[in-house]
Amino acid sequence: MQVFLAAPRGFCAGVVRAVDIVEIALERHGSPVYVKHEIVHNPHVVADLEAQGAITVETVEEIPVGAVVVFSAHGSPPSDYEAAAKRSLRIIDATCPLVTRVHNEAKKYEREGKKIILVGHRGHQEVKGTTGQGEMVLMDDQENPQPPPWDRDQEVAVLTQTTLSVDDTAAMVDRIKSAFTNVTVRNDICYATTNRQSAVKELAALVDVVLVVGSQTSSNCRRLREVAERAGVPAHLINGPEELDPTWFEGVTRVGISSGASTPESLVQAVCNALEPEDVHHLGLASEDIEFTLPGDMRDAVPPRRSSAWATGDTRA
Ligand code: SF4
Repeated sequence: MQVFLAAPRGFCAGVVRAVDIVEIALERHGSPVYVKHEIVHNPHVVADLEAQGAITVETVEEIPVGAVVVFSAHGSPPSDYEAAAKRSLRIIDATCPLVTRVHNEAKKYEREGKKIILVGHRGHQEVKGTTGQGEMVLMDDQENPQPPPWDRDQEVAVLTQTTLSVDDTAAMVDRIKSAFTNVTVRNDICYATTNRQSAVKELAALVDVVLVVGSQTSSNCRRLREVAERAGVPAHLINGPEELDPTWFEGVTRVGISSGASTPESLVQAVCNALEPEDVHHLGLASEDIEFTLPGDMRDAVPPRRSSAWATGDTRA
């Protein structure tokens, strides 16, 4: 069997930053540090940080008065910041800067008097954070795929969740553009989502089956599996090698592997090793050199950090 590894894959700059923030907060404030919502959608990363003293909670009300809390990379609504202030919590914000940009766009368009449509998935943490920034209608390709019944000449601004399918979102945006005459569209799907989906499309053209390593709770992992399947190959989303099913590989000679933006590289390597391939091909289709700065009072923290070990798969770090 030949294995083909997609590139880019795995950790994005927003995930590296969020994981670093929790680790630095633990070093500086000691245990426990509360994390509101999973810091990133990967159980291995969450469990590792919890072993170091992080406590993941879903609501601000679960956090003791005066404690330290990190808000997850997905972003949070203003109501969470208000609730945290009432409990005198020390907030450290790990919202990805690309999500914060969407929040700022929402506030700007609302100030300009535009009606806002957010294309996204109801219930996802990022969507909860973005819809909290102002008045907007959510268009979800599963539940609510049609534009709202507003006047055709109404000024409309379109925002998107950062981790959507590039192709599905383009179709939704076309539908909005045909419903209104005055539409402003920002492309909020982030570089990491876009690059990983392009890489998986190219990977799928070379292999008989695609494995996406990551969590079912990760939006960008689920989209990668769908992209591969739409490209015409069977695709499976797995947390790690323990979920491999031998029946997937009957008659298969070429297996492609990718991973989502919150998946540690060590899991990709473990899946690859479990397949016992004759050859491993690295597809250098694109490289990323994007880094996000840490919050101001953490910029003096000394690398290397745990995130770089997860990102590269070098677990000796
Ligand atoms: S997937 Fe994109 S938006 Fe989400 S944390 Fe990574 S870079 Fe930020």
